[in-house]
Amino acid sequence: MAAKWQRPTVDTKFHIDVTWWQENNRDMRVYVREALCDECREAYKDYPDIGEIDAIDPQTGEVSREDGLMHVLRTCCSLKPDYITPTTPVVGAIFRTFLANGNQPLSVNELYELLDRRPPATILRMLTAGTVYMGIRPVR
Ligand SMILES: [Zn+2]
Repeated sequence: MAAKWQRPTVDTKFHIDVTWWQENNRDMRVYVREALCDECREAYKDYPDIGEIDAIDPQTGEVSREDGLMHVLRTCCSLKPDYITPTTPVVGAIFRTFLANGNQPLSVNELYELLDRRPPATILRMLTAGTVYMGIRPVR
């Protein structure tokens, strides 16, 4: 039996779908770089690709490979108070939230709780109206 397509709800989990970036020939790193703090942007400006590093999960101790720039962002820049500000566009703020949490799937309700910006119904409409913004799509 084929899985029936379900209209996403405020409880549907979303994430950054990296295949969307590949399909659209867009480089996610450009946006990752924009999200870096001033110090890191300066430190890595001459390194378009710093490669992968071993990331250790503090909970499980499990080692996995992670993009170096994403790692820097997650462990430094995203912890700074101006990482997401009231003037960050909502979609940008959602994108940055996923970068900060290692792209763990979140529902619109959860994003709303984290960001406290627009009502969940508005965020849901924005993410499902047709245009895919920054690869943010429901988890398949
Ligand atoms: Zn930083």
